[in-house]
Amino acid sequence: MSRTVGLVFFPALDWAISPTHPEREERLLYTRDQIHEEGLLDLPEFVERRPSIASEVDVLRAHICVPSVRAVAGEPHLISAGGAIAAADMFMRHEVDKAAALVRPPGHHAMRIVHGARGFCNINNEAIMAEHIRSAYGDDLRIAFVDTDAHHADGTQDIYYNDPGVLHISIHQDGRTLYPGTGFPDELGGPAAYAGTLNVPLPPGTGDEGLMLVLDRLVLPVLEEYRPDVLINSAGQDNHYSDPITSMNVTAQGYARLNAALDPDILVLQGGYSIEGALPYVNVGILLALAGRDYGHVREPDYDERGLAQEEWISPYLEHLCAGLLETWRERERADLVGLFGSGDFFRRQRTIYYDTGGIVEHQDETIRLCAECSGYRLVDSVAEHQDGRVYRARAIIVPRRACESCRRSGRMEFEKSTDARARVHVYFQDSAGDLYIHETT
Ligand SMILES: [Zn+2]
Ligand SMILES: [Zn+2]
Repeated sequence: MSRTVGLVFFPALDWAISPTHPEREERLLYTRDQIHEEGLLDLPEFVERRPSIASEVDVLRAHICVPSVRAVAGEPHLISAGGAIAAADMFMRHEVDKAAALVRPPGHHAMRIVHGARGFCNINNEAIMAEHIRSAYGDDLRIAFVDTDAHHADGTQDIYYNDPGVLHISIHQDGRTLYPGTGFPDELGGPAAYAGTLNVPLPPGTGDEGLMLVLDRLVLPVLEEYRPDVLINSAGQDNHYSDPITSMNVTAQGYARLNAALDPDILVLQGGYSIEGALPYVNVGILLALAGRDYGHVREPDYDERGLAQEEWISPYLEHLCAGLLETWRERERADLVGLFGSGDFFRRQRTIYYDTGGIVEHQDETIRLCAECSGYRLVDSVAEHQDGRVYRARAIIVPRRACESCRRSGRMEFEKSTDARARVHVYFQDSAGDLYIHETT
């Protein structure tokens, strides 16, 4: 069955973190050549659209940027996020059956509070896109992310950690062996969204067989029950066997099969650093699968199935892991939330977040109101130490989408109280229920 695919392509040809960085200018050049060589844009299924530029409010719906949006995101970041928005609009307006944003720089390591770049990401393209979808097309749309990048999607997980309207599944190389070192099965989300976060760490060396197993045993059964209105694939191509910064064994055929089975509505490109040997073939295979076309001929020039087989213990290990996670998901309404999050009025957590790309260490102290009517307003104190000695102190008051009146009022009062404080801090009010974003410096 053939389907139309809206394609937004933004290779950011004049931007890189540094000339030798893996996330560099020519990352998507070979993909573009391969798309032309395959004649994809001449096929009736494909419609190309230019990216727009994400506005400041687009970014602020997903993030609190310290000190400001302009300080943490340049034009390429805003166009990359705008590319995801353009793809989403094509899908949501029923102009196409599917949409794909092949854009860079990527986004899935950018958390709700942003002090700089983490894991090559400054702002989270797919979260900015999802917030645009909910703002423009309906607050109650159910959104599901399946992140298939080799790195744990810790940024997207953080943004939706306590959001009952979003399911976030990340499948990635085990955090004990790869940046960012998180994404374990016991990370299951906050008090208002328990088991709305699911993490599947794959052993290094996992190939097509393991990836499909996780899809069949966990992802598809969960999606069948969750029934999202919009299914987003955060598509990282760095599980490929030739990727220079990971240790996985997935092929272009494996990625295309995964995509055909997952059948996402919108795809947003993440990582993938084998820019000549893998990206052109993985991306073309995925696009053909999205369009419902035959992708059987797409093969890497150096493909050799010898050496790509998984070690024997990996599939039984993953079966066991998926069975446990599926049970947690199915039993989520009977989970002992008091045991997990306490029975008081507030749940509190403290963490340290490391920004490898930006060289920043952030300390966070977060309090979430345990509210019976909504997911609860939040107060986050964040102190970021930059490697050049600058220190930023920020306080964020976050009112979630569909917040109850009491949480909106209490959040607003906390904000006003905080702007009277004597210590020099940036105070942010992110009111998603009112679509209102304020920044004051005390
Ligand atoms: Zn990655
Ligand atoms: Zn509430």
